[in-house]
Amino acid sequence: MKSTIKKLNATSKMRELMLYYYLEGKQAEIVSWVTSGAPVEFLYAMDIYPAYPENHSALIGANKTAPEYCELAERNGYSQDLCSYARCDIGAVFAGTSPIGGLPKPNFLFACNNICNTVVKWYEVLGRIFKVPVFLLDVPFVRKELKESHVDYVESQLYDFVDFLEKISGREFDEKKFRKVLELSREGVERYKDVLYMGRNKPSPLTCFDAFLNMAPIVCLRGTEKPVEFYSEMKKELEERIKNEVYAVDDEKYRLLWDNIPVWYRLKWLSEFFIRNNACMVADTYTNAWTGFLSADSASKKDVMRSIAETYTKIYLNIGLDEMVETINRLIDLYDVDGVVIHSNRSCKPYSFGQYEIKKMLDVPAVIIEADMTDPRAFSEAQIESRLEAFLEIL
Ligand code: SF4
Repeated sequence: MKSTIKKLNATSKMRELMLYYYLEGKQAEIVSWVTSGAPVEFLYAMDIYPAYPENHSALIGANKTAPEYCELAERNGYSQDLCSYARCDIGAVFAGTSPIGGLPKPNFLFACNNICNTVVKWYEVLGRIFKVPVFLLDVPFVRKELKESHVDYVESQLYDFVDFLEKISGREFDEKKFRKVLELSREGVERYKDVLYMGRNKPSPLTCFDAFLNMAPIVCLRGTEKPVEFYSEMKKELEERIKNEVYAVDDEKYRLLWDNIPVWYRLKWLSEFFIRNNACMVADTYTNAWTGFLSADSASKKDVMRSIAETYTKIYLNIGLDEMVETINRLIDLYDVDGVVIHSNRSCKPYSFGQYEIKKMLDVPAVIIEADMTDPRAFSEAQIESRLEAFLEIL
C-alpha cells in the first residue's frame, strides 16, 4: 500500500545534520557521554563533544535492530525489565558496534538524574567498562513547588562541575564563551518552540511524528548555531505548507495529543493508522519537554548558574503527578485537542508511573496503550489497533 505520510524536507536535512554530528564525534579530542536532561551547555563551552547514548538507542530502535543489542545485554546479566535505552546502549558497547558504528569512546561521563535514577546505575556500569570518571549531577525530585534549598543544592554542584571539567580537560572555563553558548541554547529552544507551535494551526501542517523525527538537534546540538538555523528553516517550510493549504492529514477530524516517548520502531505504522482515521496527532508531551530550557539574561555568573540550576531541576520527569496533569492539560488547551493517547512505556518507569491516575484527571478523554519505546518484543499490533479504533469511535 502506498504511504499516505507527507514527508517534510526538514527530515532529510536533519539526517544530514546528525550524520555530520556523528562524524564530528569520531574526530573529537575530548568526548563525554551525557544524559538527555543534563546541562550540555557546559560541555559545548569547553569544546567537549557530547555523545548521547539515549539518542543512539532511539536510533537503534528506529532502525529496528534493538532486539539484537537488548538480547546481548540480557545475556550479560542485564534484566529485560531495565530501560531498553540502557539495554541497547550497553548491548552496543558489548558488540563494539551499532548501525552507526558505535559512539566514540568517552573520556568521562556526565549523568544528571533529573530524568530518572536508571541513569545513575547505567553510567556507573559504563564508568566501570571504560574505566573513566563519572560526574553525577544529583537533582532532587520536586514534588510540589521548587524550593530555594533545591536550587542551592544543584547550583553548588554546577561550580563543582566546572572545576571537574577544568581538571579533566586541562582547559580554562571561559565565562564569555559560556554565555554565548547559553544564548544560542535559548535561541535554539525558541526556534524549536516556533516549530512545535505550528501544530496549533487548524488543520495542522505537522504531526508529532514529524516532531519526533526532528527532535535530535535540540537534544544533541543545543547550545550551537545548528538548531537555530535548522528550526528556522523548518518553520518556513511549515508556513509554506499552510500558505498552500497542505496539511499533515487531508481531512483533519480529530486532534490528538501523544503522551510519553514514541514507539520508535512503529512510527510509520502509527502515523499511517492515524492518517487513515482522519486523526492528527498535533502535539506530544515528549518533544514539548524541551521547550522550557534556559534564559541567559541573568547579569552575573551567580545568576546564570542559578537560572541553569532552576531550569534543569524543574523538568517534566522530575515533578509530581499533579504538576504533570497541569502540564498535559495546558497542552490540551494550547493545541486544542480532542483526546490523548497515553503510551504506557514498559521501559520508562518515571514517565509511565501514575498514568492511570493522570488519565482520570485530564480535561479530554484518553486511552492507554502498552508498548516499549525501542524493544518490539513488548508490542502487540492487534491489541493496540483495536484499542485505538475503539477510542476514536467514542470521540
Ligand atoms: S528510564 Fe526513561 S528517563 Fe530513564 S533513561 Fe530510560 S527512557 Fe530515559
